[in-house]
Amino acid sequence: MSASGLAGFGAAASAATAGSSVIIIEKMAQYGGNSAINLGDYASWDDSQHRRAALRLGDDSAEQHAADALAAGQHYSNPELVATMAREAPTALDWMITEGGLRLHAALHRQGGGGFRMHFADSGRNFVEALRTIALRHGATLRTGAKLECIWRGGAGGPVVGIAIATPDGPRNLAARKAVVLATGGFGADIAMRRAFRPILTAAYNTTNHPGATGEAIRLAQSIGADALHLAFIEVHPFAHPETGALDAAARYALRLRRHGGIIVSRAGDRFVNEMAPHDAISRAAVATGERPAYVIFNEAMLNAAREDRTDAEIAAALAQGLVVRAATLVELGAALGIPGTAIAATAQRFARFLAEGQDQDFGRPLTSALLPLDAGLYYGIPRWPAVHFTAGGLRIDNRARVIDINGAPIPRLYAAGEVTGGIHGMGRTGGNSTTAPVVYGRIAGSEAAALEPWEE
Ligand SMILES: Cc1cc2nc3c(=O)[nH]c(=O)nc-3n(C[C@H](O)[C@H](O)[C@H](O)COP(=O)(O)OP(=O)(O)OC[C@H]3O[C@@H](n4cnc5c(N)ncnc54)[C@H](O)[C@@H]3O)c2cc1C
Repeated sequence: MSASGLAGFGAAASAATAGSSVIIIEKMAQYGGNSAINLGDYASWDDSQHRRAALRLGDDSAEQHAADALAAGQHYSNPELVATMAREAPTALDWMITEGGLRLHAALHRQGGGGFRMHFADSGRNFVEALRTIALRHGATLRTGAKLECIWRGGAGGPVVGIAIATPDGPRNLAARKAVVLATGGFGADIAMRRAFRPILTAAYNTTNHPGATGEAIRLAQSIGADALHLAFIEVHPFAHPETGALDAAARYALRLRRHGGIIVSRAGDRFVNEMAPHDAISRAAVATGERPAYVIFNEAMLNAAREDRTDAEIAAALAQGLVVRAATLVELGAALGIPGTAIAATAQRFARFLAEGQDQDFGRPLTSALLPLDAGLYYGIPRWPAVHFTAGGLRIDNRARVIDINGAPIPRLYAAGEVTGGIHGMGRTGGNSTTAPVVYGRIAGSEAAALEPWEE
């Protein structure tokens, strides 16, 4: 039994392929969870076609992949879990390609904090569909609208024997003949739970997550003795859509145009933060302005300098959708955004002076010759607001995906994979690894569960 994201379908696919009878329980009406809205990046140091080598993108290895992940996580991660993720990443990727019909783009891009190991599809949904295809082909069944409400354990120290679910037809108990795999994702949409670990993450923060990203399954596992770790390690994205929290196309420009001199202003038209500060610091400063949203401001020269990062068609689409606003002068831009343009112009002038003098007297932003002044049109503005993006903490597992209890022993017949677990990403995730980890660990959980003898009382 599992749920319906990358980890859940991954577990179901491997257990069903090994001949086990599998039921996938999904509380939402739609399957896919965060995995289906994922941007489609999967980190792997190699693949069976050795694309990185063929494209001459430099050396890489499982050891380097793991080392980059550990460094990005500030060495809070469990090295054994990370090593397994890196080692198994190519095999799990090839499995989705050969068995699930996954199609990837031919190119690779660079992983933040690592080499060219990002294999990418149009979206995470492509990976979900590949795993779902394998699972259903081997007889797994998917039940949507069914919510896990209790995990039954046969006494303290005993095995997990089943679960209770809520369905539109009322509550039901399901016996697990072999095992239960928890693959219920993170808790980015669970305001009470995220506040329990980071009180600052109130409803003032949106979330990029799907609405079902709530943490009850972590609590259910804890109630039968499971250990959890790193629950306060919650990643916030400062540049999401201000109303929906979505990481839309404009989020990329907001991120990248800063590197060329873009500034961030409040509704009053003032800078309020070092634009290159860590995501968390920018987010906190935005919320502290007391007025939603904030605006990333840049100009045509910066856009041209960032040309490698965008296409004209993408900018045209973002303008047409109203995600990005453009004007000939900063005063007109302010009018179009509904904030005082004269204040933006004064802010831009002041920052241009700091650039010329080589020192940001207001927020200590490091100033380099790569930064351009905001002194000529066309001008662009993007309304943005922080959103909780990823919860790195969760249930403690070992590298066989067994859930570990508070005394350090595996809970018999209980496995977990994906964002519901903690210990892989530490304090800073590198992009792509949170697509890889649920697939690798889901696959391990499924095959470990399938290898068990059916439970008998
Ligand atoms: C917008 C966005 C973009 C992202 N892009 C990337 C990217 O490009 N690369 C990357 O590495 N990472 C990315 N991530 C992170 C990554 O997508 C997730 O960490 C990963 O998909 C989690 O997979 P999962 O299977 O653990 O959980 P999910 O895919 O969230 O699946 C969990 C499922 O469990 C269900 N569930 C929860 N509780 C219960 C319950 N009580 N009973 C029954 N069902 C339940 C949920 O409804 C959900 O369908 C992104 C995340 C978001 C939100």
